[in-house]
Amino acid sequence: MAIISDDNLQFGKEKKTVNSAVKNPNIKSEFIEYDKTFENSIRPKSFADYIGQSELKETLKVILEAAKKRGKPLDHMLFYGPPGLGKTTIAGVIASQMGVEIKITSAPALERPRDIIGILMSLKGGEILFIDEIHRLNRVAEEILYPAMEDFSLDMTTGKSQTAKTLRVPIPKFTLIGATTKAGELSAPLRDRFGMLHRLEFYSTEELSQVVERTAKILEIEITKEGSKAIAKRSRGTPRIANRLIKRVSDFAIVKYDGIIDEKIANESLDILKIDEFGLDTTDRALLNLIINKYDGGPVGVETIAAALSEDTRTIEEVCEPYLLQAGLLQRTPRGRKVSPEGYRHLGYKPPSEQTTLF
Ligand code: ADP
Repeated sequence: MAIISDDNLQFGKEKKTVNSAVKNPNIKSEFIEYDKTFENSIRPKSFADYIGQSELKETLKVILEAAKKRGKPLDHMLFYGPPGLGKTTIAGVIASQMGVEIKITSAPALERPRDIIGILMSLKGGEILFIDEIHRLNRVAEEILYPAMEDFSLDMTTGKSQTAKTLRVPIPKFTLIGATTKAGELSAPLRDRFGMLHRLEFYSTEELSQVVERTAKILEIEITKEGSKAIAKRSRGTPRIANRLIKRVSDFAIVKYDGIIDEKIANESLDILKIDEFGLDTTDRALLNLIINKYDGGPVGVETIAAALSEDTRTIEEVCEPYLLQAGLLQRTPRGRKVSPEGYRHLGYKPPSEQTTLF
């Protein structure tokens, strides 16, 4: 299987965010340190290497087997969930298991009609087209996609006004795999054209320990079981973060210690990196602190939070919040975000419900 991708297409979003990250030292280091070569070098290529998400893997194995037996392309699929959980990776695994090529792009790179038409016309039978951030597709691109997904054809208009004619041009049968951090922002007609929708879940500590061990092996880093677990615990349920942390901890281990990562070295390095035992970093703690100290624990709107932290709203909504919500430290209410009693305790404050008033 060959992965064909154009850097500018595939990583449009990251490039933009990296620029703002340089201006703002608080922005998620996940984006600052985005290293495509490193990420691709450790990306699992088979179901056996793809850790966790067992329900998804079992379902996919059946679907893939059935498609192979029928000799038909796979149904279009949509994967959603926070960044770094393995949406791009599973698309690559599917392509590799089917023995087909995958073309990777992202919605912001498909601004003009010719971008999407060009890519659809270049597909060969059975190939997979992966569109990241598919919720950001514009309406024109979406409308080009509808007949392509449904009937494997493109509706082209020729001529002007009264003499205009619509031509139906067939294209090879392909499978669209969409990925999004915001499934709710997908238009209903687009969502309905996917035969399978699946939400990727955060990973358990046990699963992330396996991710850390696997990456350590590839990078020839020596690490104990306890060392892997210590890193896994602070990885916010996210393989991309686990991979980033193992790399950073190994730098500490090489420079400061004898190179082997054990629990003590892992914990000390992560403390130096200001990643706490919940996996929260400076931005996450700044967010909770802001709501507690400036807004009485909330509710407060996400735009206000983003402005106060000099972050963009998307980073807050798509990168910080999902894990804080899942960890039960933050709550989403119709009037905005609130810090939960656990959030107060985690930062060393007494929750309002436990504070005694004198009068
Ligand atoms: P997403 O597309 O959801 O943002 P990616 O698929 O790019 O996330 O995954 C980010 C990194 O995490 C990849 O480099 C990959 O190596 C690793 N990763 C993701 N999911 C898994 C998994 N299930 N098992 C092992 N590594 C994984």
